[in-house]
Amino acid sequence: MPTVNEHFFDVEDDYLFAATDQAIADFERKNPSCRVLRMSKGDVTRPLAPAVVEAIHQAVDEMSQVGGCKGYSPSAGYDFLLRSIAEQYAALGVALSCKELFVSDGSKSDIGNIFDLFGQDNLVLVPDPGYPAYRDVSILTGNRVFPVKASAENGFVAEPPADVKADLIFLCSPNNPTGTAMDRSLMEKWVSYAKACGAIIFFDAVYERYISDPCIPHSIFQVEGAKECALEFRSYSKGAGFTGVRCSVVAIPQELTARRRAGAEVALNQLWARRNATRFNGVSYLVQRAAQAVHTPQGEAQTGEDIAFYQQNIRLLRQGLRNMGYSVFGGEHAPYLWLQCPEGFDSWAWFKYLLAEIAVAVVPGKGFGLYGEGYVRLSAFCSREDVEEVLARLQSISK
Ligand SMILES: *Cc1c(COP(=O)(O)O)cnc(C)c1O
Repeated sequence: MPTVNEHFFDVEDDYLFAATDQAIADFERKNPSCRVLRMSKGDVTRPLAPAVVEAIHQAVDEMSQVGGCKGYSPSAGYDFLLRSIAEQYAALGVALSCKELFVSDGSKSDIGNIFDLFGQDNLVLVPDPGYPAYRDVSILTGNRVFPVKASAENGFVAEPPADVKADLIFLCSPNNPTGTAMDRSLMEKWVSYAKACGAIIFFDAVYERYISDPCIPHSIFQVEGAKECALEFRSYSKGAGFTGVRCSVVAIPQELTARRRAGAEVALNQLWARRNATRFNGVSYLVQRAAQAVHTPQGEAQTGEDIAFYQQNIRLLRQGLRNMGYSVFGGEHAPYLWLQCPEGFDSWAWFKYLLAEIAVAVVPGKGFGLYGEGYVRLSAFCSREDVEEVLARLQSISK
């Protein structure tokens, strides 16, 4: 009989969304006439941009022709898409060649798969509160986790810890769930810290298109020296509405190395290419054409309108909540608000209260880490009517 990965017993059950979904379903069963407003959604709700739809249609037509059908994609992605991505980086002042970019089927997969390159027992820093996959995948692959507090005292962004020598570091900016972004000087601190420890930063930039302040970097590689200590995840999911289409990018600079047990340094870029050769057969042609369309002027403008729509939702929510006297954080550079629970409520209690009293679903902050306690996450991935309705319902319970 084979043995299983013992680390499965070191992670909690996928408790957060299972538990919130169950509570919402129970409420709906008992209150069939009441519409639950799902401000808990970390998923886009607007339709695909017309330029994206057109690109997919065209690609299907191409593949329906004799001689036009595409088989396996190169495992790192087609040149047409890699070039568009390299150009997007170039516009940020970051020089990355197509050989340093790898197209993939989603950042969640990439975040898990990147551990194929590393040994076990590394010390992994994860932002707390943070995206739960960082913690879970680190544990499942036999590594140790050190949570880095991103709480009110430090403006809800993680700072390098004193007296901890990391091997790997997850950073997410703008951050899910707090909706806050790191400024350049904090990113520089992290790069210096990583270099001092010999650590590697995994920079998750999936919300970069929501950044609204031109001084905030969109990529870790905009920081001097980051190519020697960081790799980056980017995704079309939140920035272009691709959560159901699936496409992402991993950027691994040639300079980035890690050590073998005996001490020799090896380039991670080559290890990742080697890993993909064995474990990945590429993203579908249709999806890569769809992603390329996001980089066209039309695609960029259309997806930009969707982002502007969600951003306006966030502004209305934030203003409305502040007017009611709530303490609200984040949202300037991300589609999420981080809302402090009123006195007397922990995050699960407030989640339950809001659901029971006004049929509004949020996400309890505790689900994102211990330091998420005392807060809930509100998402702006909803319609304008829902924003107005949620504010009206909250007004009805505020003193
Ligand atoms: C949504 C999300 C992802 C996953 O994105 P996919 O590309 O859809 O897999 C990764 N990181 C964070 C922080 C996210 O919120």
